Amino acid sequence: MKKIAVLGSTGSIGTQTLEVVSAYPGRFEIVSLSAGKNIDLLEKQIRIFRPKVAAVWDEKDAEKLKDRLTGVDVTILSGMDGLIEAACIPEAEIVVTAIVGMIGIRPTIAAIKAKKDIALANKETLVCAGHIIIPLVKQMGVKLLPVDSEHSAIFQCLNGEKENRIHKILLTASGGPFRGRKKEELKDIKPEDALKHPNWSMGAKITIDSSTMVNKGLEVMEAKWLFGVDYDRVQVVIQPKSIIHSMVEFEDGAVIAQLGTPDMKLPIQYALTWPERMEIKGGGRLDFAELTSIAFEKPDMVNFPALALAYEAGKRGGNIPTAFNAANEIAVAEFLGGKIGYLDIYEKISLACEKIDFVKDPDVDEILYTQEAVCRLFD
Ligand code: NDP
Repeated sequence: MKKIAVLGSTGSIGTQTLEVVSAYPGRFEIVSLSAGKNIDLLEKQIRIFRPKVAAVWDEKDAEKLKDRLTGVDVTILSGMDGLIEAACIPEAEIVVTAIVGMIGIRPTIAAIKAKKDIALANKETLVCAGHIIIPLVKQMGVKLLPVDSEHSAIFQCLNGEKENRIHKILLTASGGPFRGRKKEELKDIKPEDALKHPNWSMGAKITIDSSTMVNKGLEVMEAKWLFGVDYDRVQVVIQPKSIIHSMVEFEDGAVIAQLGTPDMKLPIQYALTWPERMEIKGGGRLDFAELTSIAFEKPDMVNFPALALAYEAGKRGGNIPTAFNAANEIAVAEFLGGKIGYLDIYEKISLACEKIDFVKDPDVDEILYTQEAVCRLFD
């Protein structure tokens, strides 16, 4: 039985991870769970999966949970220390980092140092700390298995291709719900409009990020680190139906693609079972008799400037991707709270990348300091 720790078990990726675990009794064991605020759901998960350890962010929530779970054999922890302990629990072989935001960086680093394999969903880890994570993964000899559907697709396209040089990574994007609109038509977008993704069902932040194309920008930065390619070799291609999850073009011009239905359970399951493939339970299959066409477009970097900003931030490197990400986290929260308009998200990202003091090779403290500096910039 593969023993799994899940960081962010109450979110979209976290709950789907637990669905995969439930679909294969006897194959996986959950040894720790952790969540932010949703203690009702976490309590249910603890009763079903019986982890040894569970962590929540707030100490008061941890006390409430302890009261509710009297008689259940589980250790309840809180705060960053709790999160790190849940990630490093000795029994875990693999840690699913399904937590949202830069809060995921420290526990992921701790888990790698504790020699755990990582099923990586948390984008911020590689975007902000790729220069720390990738050498550490190599040093500790652990596996970094992508959960994001695009990166999982690229990872699958590269199976058996270790010796062959990548000419280009073709990162596909649906283009989001506002594809084809001009800036003028985007300025009055409301959160409820942006929360409707045409193909994927995801958490609120990443759904907004998909609509602005910030998500694709973060994925470009992740791809650079995960697959060790320069930014000039990562090309974004719009493929509105999200059938092709990404492609790799090799030196000889051959392009290998991974296709499937837009269901996150496939990449989650693959990260947990790699290199084995198991039958997907309850998931859809592509029907090529019904699929009459697969269309492609160039991304619109003028009306959706996030992608251009992300390439620029990534190429500048250092703490600038952190400034990009931190500004976006603040802007998305403010947009969802009705405090700023849709296009202000781009303004904030651009301003943070321009104003923040450059640090060439930031350590984790400097990354978190950059995040704080961006918060102060917008106070
Ligand atoms: P959700 O918002 O649905 O879930 C986030 C999870 O993080 C929740 O369990 C939440 O707990 C937990 N969390 C938030 N703050 C804390 C905290 N301080 N301490 C502990 N736990 C915390 O996000 P998603 O599942 O959509 O995304 C998770 C990550 O995966 C993101 O980085 C995203 O970019 C990435 N990703 C997501 C994909 C998707 O399809 N959803 C696809 C690819 C990548 P609670 O709810 O209890 O507060």
